Amino acid sequence: MFSHPEFDDHETVVFSRDEASGLTAIIAVHNTALGPGFGGCRMWPYGDEEAALRDVLRLSAGMTYKAAICELPYGGGKSVIIGDAGSQKTPALLGAMGRLVEGLGGLYIIADDVGTTLDDLAVMRTETAHTAATTAAAGEPLAVTAHGVARAMEAAAAFAFGRSDLVGLRVAVQGLGNVGLPLCRYLRDRGADLTVCDIDPERLALARRELSPKIVPAEDIYDRDVDVFAPCAFGAVLNDETIPRLRAKVVCGGANNQLLRGEHDAALAARGILYVPDYLANAGGVIDFHMEHINDNPEAVLDAVGRIGEITADTLARAHAQGETPLQQTDRLVHQRLDAARAAQLSSPPD
Ligand code: NAD
Repeated sequence: MFSHPEFDDHETVVFSRDEASGLTAIIAVHNTALGPGFGGCRMWPYGDEEAALRDVLRLSAGMTYKAAICELPYGGGKSVIIGDAGSQKTPALLGAMGRLVEGLGGLYIIADDVGTTLDDLAVMRTETAHTAATTAAAGEPLAVTAHGVARAMEAAAAFAFGRSDLVGLRVAVQGLGNVGLPLCRYLRDRGADLTVCDIDPERLALARRELSPKIVPAEDIYDRDVDVFAPCAFGAVLNDETIPRLRAKVVCGGANNQLLRGEHDAALAARGILYVPDYLANAGGVIDFHMEHINDNPEAVLDAVGRIGEITADTLARAHAQGETPLQQTDRLVHQRLDAARAAQLSSPPD
């Protein structure tokens, strides 16, 4: 475990099996210097345990970065349930997951993710107090992640192209799911010129009916002559094979862990492509959770998520001034904040 390539100094990793309900789960809490680990619970039929472990470790570390870059009082956490959400999810299994979360005593706050829903969190709440979406308004769907990505993209377009609007901006969106489709709606409303792809014909049909975008085969999305490439399907899409193909000058999207490896940040910079760090662009969910405790009416939440645009603008300007990539800039800020919070914890006397 400690030499796992994705271990990255995780504070706590819990492996659990509950025979009675069939639950097999991992909870990873990456860093709690700024507050309890917050992050979603993914239910997925992973091919093997290694794939599940890798996923949970990478995603929980990402949550630390999202909260820290947005100056929120949370750490990074994530959980995975190994199984098929369609056929293996039962109230007993969700209850067992709730007990597991409760056993961590607030170290981890669980939210919904791929394969789990807000209704599933309600079932877990019969066993634990440590879940997201505890208010009525928080239970309503709101496209917070897409909104944050859109605001980050506006800031990047202003920086890279000197433009104050998105009219005619050519954007290629990869994936038309919970993030990609609402992002397209937002961009279309602001006059952007959309090129999209998906492997699901139903999502394509929906987009075609509503938005009339240019639709291209999934494999061709990297080669399009566009201004912005927005990865919104899955991770590791920026790699040795795809980066040389990109014609966009900006990459800004909602997918987690877009770079296959750290060195691909430099590869993008070498091609003069501005990469907005994924964990900044897609941090809308953490801000949404934070607003549950402050003011969770939809307008206030979207307004708060808009801060992603301001942070992006700041990051791009500072990175440029200091000769860094935006990712180097945000990573450095995150580490400074975590180190300062840890030092403050260590120097404060015990209660
Ligand atoms: P989703 O499952 O709703 O949508 C993903 C879409 O991508 C689907 O329509 C799928 O058919 C499509 N797709 C799959 N393979 C493809 C391919 N090869 N080419 C083109 N399209 C393909 O997922 P989502 O919730 O929209 O999340 C998308 C990404 O954003 C993921 O990386 C996720 O981790 C990340 N993310 C999501 C949220 C959120 O709030 N949902 C928050 C932060 C980050």
